[in-house]
Amino acid sequence: MAESAPLICRDIHKTFDKLEVLKGISLETRKGDVVSLIGSSGSGKSTFLRCINLLETPTSGDIIVHGDPIRFKNNRKGERIPADNRQVELIRARLSMVFQSFNLWSHMTVLENIIEAPINVLKIPKKEAIERAEAYLNKVGIYERKDYYPAQMSGGQQQRAAIARALAMEPEVMLFDEPTSALDPELVGEVLKVMQSLAEEGRTMIVVTHEMAFARDVSTQVLFLHQGVIEEQGSPDKVFDHPESERMKQFLAPKF
Ligand code: ADP
Ligand code: MG
Repeated sequence: MAESAPLICRDIHKTFDKLEVLKGISLETRKGDVVSLIGSSGSGKSTFLRCINLLETPTSGDIIVHGDPIRFKNNRKGERIPADNRQVELIRARLSMVFQSFNLWSHMTVLENIIEAPINVLKIPKKEAIERAEAYLNKVGIYERKDYYPAQMSGGQQQRAAIARALAMEPEVMLFDEPTSALDPELVGEVLKVMQSLAEEGRTMIVVTHEMAFARDVSTQVLFLHQGVIEEQGSPDKVFDHPESERMKQFLAPKF
């Protein structure tokens, strides 16, 4: 039997009040896929990522993680909500997210930030969680900063700590929401380098990004979102070099 896809999204819709932000987004990943999600600001990229790991509940549509469908129910007001809070917690561990603004806890050291969820969500013994954290800090190149507080580090180091925190959950899919957008330009490269090495290791990743060189060189699939619809989808070659949609062509055109 073929191995099941790490993540399948089918016909995801999301409406806030009356605003339909996602109008039927579907995505199927294979193991090792790096999916770049591109598009103008406001096109729904973050909302889609947040729906995937249930920071938002999709209004309709299915999300299937390694053959395991996320269960929803309706609350008393008739709104769709996740059916099982433990499943939500596990889904966030299996699809761990790296945010634009790092979202490290400021009152905890880097090491404490990283071991928190493995201990409390995955129920891993503390000693093992620390060993795991140290291994991932090594991988992202900031082992020597493990006892620092976030405010004592550069933005690039904080984002690498956030990536180590996501890795420590040993997720099936990593989600990145514009991980380099909040960084000073000289710090972008160190974070992209770590992400590229994760891609080369065969990790499955979905990356919202404005870094077109990364999208072109590292991804296996590119999705171009416009007003909540996938306007163009395919290999980087197809999307960047042979786009069919006029909007994609406009998006790629140099802006002065
Ligand atoms: P992107 O990440 O592509 O810039 P977003 O997903 O953040 O786009 O936003 C898409 C649209 O959804 C925007 O019009 C935004 O204002 C709206 N939106 C996002 N989150 C909410 C929310 N919690 N409530 C109401 N509207 C929202
Ligand atoms: Mg966004």
